[in-house]
Amino acid sequence: MFGAIEAGGTKFVLGIGSNPGNLTTIQIPTTTPGSTIAEAVAFFRNSSEEIEAVGIGSFGPVDLRPGSPTYGFITSTPKEGWNNCDLAGSIAKALGVPVGFDTDVNAAALGEARWGAGMGLTDCLYITVGTGIGGGAIVNGLILHGLVHPEMGHIRIPHDRSSDPFPGICPFHGDCLEGLASGPAMLARWGISAQQLQENHEGWRLEAHYLALGLVTWVCILSPQRIILGGGVMQRPHLFPLIQNEFSALINRYIKAHELNEGLCDYIVSPGLGNRSGVLGALALAERALGKTQQSTNPDKDI
Ligand code: ADP
Ligand code: ZN
Repeated sequence: MFGAIEAGGTKFVLGIGSNPGNLTTIQIPTTTPGSTIAEAVAFFRNSSEEIEAVGIGSFGPVDLRPGSPTYGFITSTPKEGWNNCDLAGSIAKALGVPVGFDTDVNAAALGEARWGAGMGLTDCLYITVGTGIGGGAIVNGLILHGLVHPEMGHIRIPHDRSSDPFPGICPFHGDCLEGLASGPAMLARWGISAQQLQENHEGWRLEAHYLALGLVTWVCILSPQRIILGGGVMQRPHLFPLIQNEFSALINRYIKAHELNEGLCDYIVSPGLGNRSGVLGALALAERALGKTQQSTNPDKDI
């Protein structure tokens, strides 16, 4: 059995299990690192199951560089008290088991690749459109880290200020994709939250336009076999066809693949694991931590 932690800025989801069928979870509020981590440790210790490894998908920024003195830390978060917090190390020390650690969105991508809408694929993308915009990529069955980890929400996209004068809300870039199209950006632009914005409001066409620009960029660079769109804003189902149509228009049949043309409905999809992508991804991280090395999500492909 494995332990799973989806560490968010407002709540931690803790889980015990070995697959989606037997995972049991609880939620605890994110308070101070000391008490939140102690509560998580107690949950795993008090379980009747023997936990062999723990996986953590965490809010960030986090240090994922192997060998770094602050590997496994939450580093420079504005969240009170959590700056420089050794999350992975504290859990590993308290429980004495291998710990797999990654960003929340990388964990969600892995969860979807392992058991959800990306199952059986070697290359897929998970994007969350919520408080922020973030993306995790599975490439050849492995989570893409690169130098640090991708920051897909902060790409610069065309922004026509004559038709959309909204300056964007990213504190670093203003009108990067996250600055223009995250949930809080929608609220700031229209004065109405994405939950409450009417389906026929012009804001949705603009939202789909910006998200499709992001998708086209990621598709051209990473060539994923499927894109999974999660997060609060994507709870509005009417957004999917708007994005698919806009994506089609932007890519203009340039890439010759069924998935990107007639098959688009099965290419840009909702998470297969609903709201459990993150915690199940943490479970998959535990599974990989026990195996010490990353395994491919494709059982036929040995990397
Ligand atoms: P987080 O990104 O903090 O993990 P969410 O993915 O729920 O959490 O994102 C929160 C954002 O998503 C908010 O800006 C909110 O307005 C928006 N949101 C949440 N639920 C919905 C919904 N059902 N429909 C549209 N927007 C939503
Ligand atoms: Zn930005």
